[in-house]
Amino acid sequence: MTKIIIIGGGASGLMAAVMAARRGADVTVLEHQSACGKKILATGNGKCNLTNTHIYPGAYRSHAPGAVAEVLGRFTVEDTLDLFSGLGLYTREKNGWVYPYSQQARTVLQILLTEIGHLGVDVRTQVHIQKIFPDTSGRGQWRLCTDSGIYRGDAVILAAGSKASNLPGADGSGYQLAKSLGHKICPVLPALVPLVGEGDHFEQWAGVRMDARITLRLDGKDVQEETGEVQMTGYGVSGIPVFQLSRYAVEGLHEKKRAELSLDLFPSLDVQGLEDLLRGKKAQSPHKDWTAVLMGIFPEKISRIAARPAQPRRIARKLKDWKIPIKGWQDYTYAQVCMGGVDLQQVDPRTLESRLHKGLYFAGEILDVDGACGGYNLQWAWSSGAVAGRAACRRKKRDRKGSP
Ligand SMILES: Cc1cc2nc3c(=O)[nH]c(=O)nc-3n(C[C@H](O)[C@H](O)[C@H](O)COP(=O)(O)OP(=O)(O)OC[C@H]3O[C@@H](n4cnc5c(N)ncnc54)[C@H](O)[C@@H]3O)c2cc1C
Repeated sequence: MTKIIIIGGGASGLMAAVMAARRGADVTVLEHQSACGKKILATGNGKCNLTNTHIYPGAYRSHAPGAVAEVLGRFTVEDTLDLFSGLGLYTREKNGWVYPYSQQARTVLQILLTEIGHLGVDVRTQVHIQKIFPDTSGRGQWRLCTDSGIYRGDAVILAAGSKASNLPGADGSGYQLAKSLGHKICPVLPALVPLVGEGDHFEQWAGVRMDARITLRLDGKDVQEETGEVQMTGYGVSGIPVFQLSRYAVEGLHEKKRAELSLDLFPSLDVQGLEDLLRGKKAQSPHKDWTAVLMGIFPEKISRIAARPAQPRRIARKLKDWKIPIKGWQDYTYAQVCMGGVDLQQVDPRTLESRLHKGLYFAGEILDVDGACGGYNLQWAWSSGAVAGRAACRRKKRDRKGSP
């Protein structure tokens, strides 16, 4: 029986455990926290947006996009939904975003934990891995030194996630383990993260939420546009459309580019249309100042800031192109995912086995892949976990046949 050790009991590790144990492997999950799947519980504001039925090329970013497509093609969204449905999960979908019908992330975690319990997977929590050694006999055996003794396996799946989130388990230790085995780590930075603006006026708008079209400019060039609810904060901006742009903003800033957001706070009218609207409203109530006029249309805090030029053309222009120079991003604790990670070019995308060490596999966010908001990151965790879990338990058979 193939003995597989999975490092990390998160989304990808639990999926790998299900896949390997179903194929008859003897599976042990080593989790350094007190319980598995803590990040799953935090997903989708506790509702867990577990996948998205609309996969498009721009949904994932990596230095090896072909490898990402290969993995997603080997365990697809349909495969994921079939698997969860077979485990008893009933889902609901809105504009492609899929949630458990219960709207509780705990449902998804519970279903996975029940299945691995049923399959006899050995889950060890609060285990801290000190070192991973490939066996020198060259037969693909692995030894793991931990604070609770030595574990041995025919294959190891490193599914330790990224540094994103405020959960203590997300400490980036997986990158160190991969590095200690000679794997290249593409620069890791937060993605899906709030952005920090330049200037001192943000306190004045903190707490406002508005639907807006938002454009990211790098060195003066428009690079990406998103629409949705923007959250104005005391330091800058947050919310789903900001998260979607943040990856490119962080990357640009990291490359020393000038980053700026432009907010269009009235996307349904052009500048002239908005100016006409403002003039019309003012004509209805000439006794009102511009702040009072704007307050009939916009939130009070926005009205107070926007009314300052006190001239309809300039107000309309400001509301249609509200420039926010971006000086940085919030740290990892505010991020939902990280860009960068274990370089996929050193991993076989058909199996997620290391090209450097036989019997070493990777799954999940530890790899150099990050997805957009909308269930894409969990889908990557499910797909990569399934591919690695299936392949790892074929190890012994392949070794016996002598095939790669
Ligand atoms: C607040 C928040 C909301 C999110 N919402 C969504 C969403 O709705 N939809 C979506 O698609 N994605 C969402 N994501 C992203 C998604 O949760 C992750 O991409 C996904 O969980 C990654 O799976 P993983 O298995 O790679 O890592 P994780 O789920 O983070 O699991 C890694 C596990 O490994 C353990 N570990 C780490 N290092 C070690 C070590 N050295 N030894 C032993 N164990 C270790 C960790 O404790 C953890 O349990 C969200 C993320 C956050 C932070």
